[in-house]
Amino acid sequence: MPKTVNYICTKCGKKQALSSDEKTPQCCDMPMIPDEPLPVCEMSATAEHSRMDEDNGPCDDGRGGVV
Ligand SMILES: [Zn+2]
Repeated sequence: MPKTVNYICTKCGKKQALSSDEKTPQCCDMPMIPDEPLPVCEMSATAEHSRMDEDNGPCDDGRGGVV
């Protein structure tokens, strides 16, 4: 069962709901983009942040000891 995708035109802001089976609709001579909430982006950024933070600690410590 295809899910419904909400598309939005970045130019005029017009929204259109289509099933994911359909081709990307066009508006203002441009392809409309899927208008979806972006909780995934926030989650991955947080995970990356904590990973970088963890990586930075020991790395900085080792460098300081050598030099
Ligand atoms: Zn438009």
